[in-house]
Amino acid sequence: MVTEQSEMDSLKAGDVAILGVPFDENSSFMRGPAGGPAEIRKQLHCGSANYYAEDGTNIEASDRIFDVGDIDFRVETDWLQTIENGAGDILSRGAKLLSLGGDHSVTWPLIRAHAKVHPKLTILQIDAHPDLYDSLDGNRHAHACPFARIMEEGLVERLVQIGIRTLNKHQREQAERFGVEIIEMKDWSADKLPLFDSPLYLTLDLDGLDPAAAPGVSHHEPGGFSARQVIEIIQNLPPVLVGADIVELNPVRDHFGMTAMLGSKLLREIGAKMMM
Ligand code: MN
Ligand code: MN
Repeated sequence: MVTEQSEMDSLKAGDVAILGVPFDENSSFMRGPAGGPAEIRKQLHCGSANYYAEDGTNIEASDRIFDVGDIDFRVETDWLQTIENGAGDILSRGAKLLSLGGDHSVTWPLIRAHAKVHPKLTILQIDAHPDLYDSLDGNRHAHACPFARIMEEGLVERLVQIGIRTLNKHQREQAERFGVEIIEMKDWSADKLPLFDSPLYLTLDLDGLDPAAAPGVSHHEPGGFSARQVIEIIQNLPPVLVGADIVELNPVRDHFGMTAMLGSKLLREIGAKMMM
């Protein structure tokens, strides 16, 4: 892993760039996820685990994975443009982007940047929530709304959601309106996942996991995935993963950094898959 930010210029096509997006101004219930990227990095480098993904990829030894640091929100006032530009800068070099949130609102500008490079993108979303609200508490940018915005703008060809266990009437109607494919948690079995063959973007909201596995999130919604289930989902994806994000880690809610450690484990698994 290359960690000097000056090395960004040596990013080549197919390399993976890890980008922190420390932004939580669109959180609805409590703040905290802006601290997510720093905590995941801390656990990744804390020395308690090695840097291997389970398939034998050592992401620390690889010269194809770069940590390019965080998006700097002090420079611009428009958060949407700041994130889209930061992501677009990396994607224009032909590299793939693995972003660390931040609350889930950051996925909208990240997908805007990806859609310019991949016009026929499919999103696989792991989440307790569909995040399809037209508006939440008067905020159309809330972290409960990004996939309504993404579908309205026609940024992706297909949105598949798994882990969902909070659908209400409004969000069911929104899913129908946008043609979102939802496999609710109550109906989950791994063989229901479609066979993805187009460029795929994985957006991983850590509250898709059960709070027992991932307590460090703002919204505890019991009855979610185990860590092993999510690892298997990632490992069984075909090698079409062109981008990913891990969002909604809230260090304020975490115990002993265990959710951040889970985030760093999933970062290794996703990074290895993206280098395939
Ligand atoms: Mn979410
Ligand atoms: Mn969620």
